[in-house]
This record gives sequence, C-alpha cells and structure tokens, in this order.
Amino acid sequence: MTGHVIDGKAFAADVRARVAAHVARLREEHGVKPGLAVVLVGADPASEVYVRNKGVQTVEAGMASFEHKLAADTSEADLLALVRVLNADPAVHGILVQLPLPAHMNAELVINTIDPAKDVDGFHISNVGLLGTGQKAMVPCTPLGCLMMLRAHHGTLAGMTAVVVGRSNIVGKPMAQLLLGDSCTVTIAHSRTRELAAVCRGADILVAAVGRAEMITGDMIKPGATVIDVGINRVERDGRSRLVGDVDFASASVVAGAITPVPGGVGPMTIACLLANTLTACCRAHGVAEPEGLTA
Ligand code: NDP
Repeated sequence: MTGHVIDGKAFAADVRARVAAHVARLREEHGVKPGLAVVLVGADPASEVYVRNKGVQTVEAGMASFEHKLAADTSEADLLALVRVLNADPAVHGILVQLPLPAHMNAELVINTIDPAKDVDGFHISNVGLLGTGQKAMVPCTPLGCLMMLRAHHGTLAGMTAVVVGRSNIVGKPMAQLLLGDSCTVTIAHSRTRELAAVCRGADILVAAVGRAEMITGDMIKPGATVIDVGINRVERDGRSRLVGDVDFASASVVAGAITPVPGGVGPMTIACLLANTLTACCRAHGVAEPEGLTA
C-alpha cells in the first residue's frame, strides 16, 4: 500500500492565499505594502527563471517586487553598496541576494551586510544565532516549508524521533534546529555517518537533504514514518531529462506513512515561505500582528 502523498503544490497555494489575505488586511488597516527586493548577479539561466517566478508570485500576493539585475562582472563593492541602499529603503521589507554569487565575491560578507530584519532567506549570522538559541529569527525558507508541512500532517511533533540527512547551512542544520524547537529528538546524519540505513530506520520523521538522486531507499525507512524529500536532482531516464529527489519514491512510498514527492513536494513551499517571511518582516518592521501559522 502506498503511504499518503503530501501535496506540496496545494499546500503552497494555501500558504500563498493566506499571505495574500494578510497582505490585503495590512494594506487596508495600516496602509502598508510589503516589498521584496531580489538581487541577481550574472545571467545563470536557472537563477533567472527562479528570480522571475519569485517576482510574479510576490506581485500576485499583493506585495511590491523590486528586481535588481547586475552584470556578472559587477564589483563586490558595488553589490555591497546596493545592499546598503536596500537596507535603508523603507519600501523594502525583505532582501534576497540570489546564490550562488560569482567567484570574485565573498558570499558570506554580502549576506552579512543585509539588515538581519530584512534577511528573508534567514542566512545572516544573526538569524542563524537567533534560531540556534531558540529566539525569534528569520528562518530559511526551505526548512520552514518542511516544518509547516510536518506540523500540518502531525499536529504536534513533540517527542518524535527525527533524522535529518545533510548538514548544510541552508537546509540540514536549520531543519534540525526547527525540529529541536518543536521538541523532536533530532539526529543529523552526513557523509561520514556510520550505518546510515540503521540511523534512518530509527526515524519517525526522515528529512533527506543530500543532493544525491534517490539514495534513500525503502529499506532505510521505518514503516509508517513521514519522509520529507528536499532533494532536487536532474537525471537522464529513458532518454529524457527528469527531476528526482534524494529519496527513491517507488520503494519509499510503500513503506512510509506519508511522503513528499519530487517535483510537487518541498519545492513549491520554498517560494511560498519566502513570501511568508517577507510579510513577517514587514509586520515586525511596523510593529503589527504577525500572521499566525506562517512562522516558526
Ligand atoms: P549540500 O551539498 O550543501 O549538502 C549536502 C549534505 O549531504 C552534506 O551535509 C553532505 O555531508 C551530505 N551527504 C552527501 N553525501 C552523503 C551520503 N552519501 N550520505 C549521507 N550524507 C551525505 O546540499 P544542500 O543542503 O544545499 O541541498 C541538498 C539538496 O536539497 C540538493 O538536492 C538541493 O538541490 C536541494 N535543495 C532543494 C531546495 C528546494 O527548494 N526544494 C532548496 C535547497 C536545496 P557532508 O557535510 O559530510 O559533506
């Protein structure tokens, strides 16, 4: 029997609708319009598509979208100057610098120059520290989306055993912090973990953020567990290019109690949570009530 397939597309549409409703109220009651600035350096085609999608969804949610496209040979000083201008702009509540940046730029310096209150990606060192110490932070969008889906599926996560495979700063580590914040018993696995299959089989919640196509197979999953597949991998199959996750959906879905598919699982939630974070940043900037259920 196949486990419940968590529909990330539908979930993301619901999050976007809730964001739009709150934005409309904010504009009506407080005369405030949230604004998101996205900065893209260079002309990477995948990043361009992603930035365009962000712009479209931002406007659809009733927010202002500011796109800044800079040439690949822009100096780091010029990028930092733009970030400072956006930091000071009251119409901008969220700033996102699209990664990766060209090799001549120091991404950490750029990210840490963003005003932490406008850091809607949640990558600024202040937000990392706030999340790590259980304080109110801007939370990275992808793990926030995973947490929302897990909460919606389970209600409370308290006491559950969670295993996060992957320890990157953008997915694995913040995901583990969020699960810990919801009182899960958390293990972080990585490329040096011994007996990975046995570690994974102990999980009530298994989050795969590895970047290796279909490496988590059904025999690594506890029967009935909830599996969140963050991976996005492009593979050639039957002469066609396809997107697959880090989880082997065919074998995993017959063991798991619930599972996110790829595509259509975690992916759509990432931009939805970017919009939610922009709204949250705007509410905090203006001292008005934050939307319920759209933050960690
Ligand atoms: P990284 O490459 O930064 O991190 C991968 C992690 O996986 C590392 O911690 C690495 O361990 C671990 N790992 C690698 N091989 C193994 C292995 N054989 N066994 C156990 N652990 C292993 O990737 P990201 O965190 O940035 O992304 C992970 C995946 O999520 C990618 O497929 C990416 O495309 C996708 N992604 C999807 C998003 C979305 O919106 N859905 C957003 C962001 C990412 P170690 O540290 O020891 O090297």
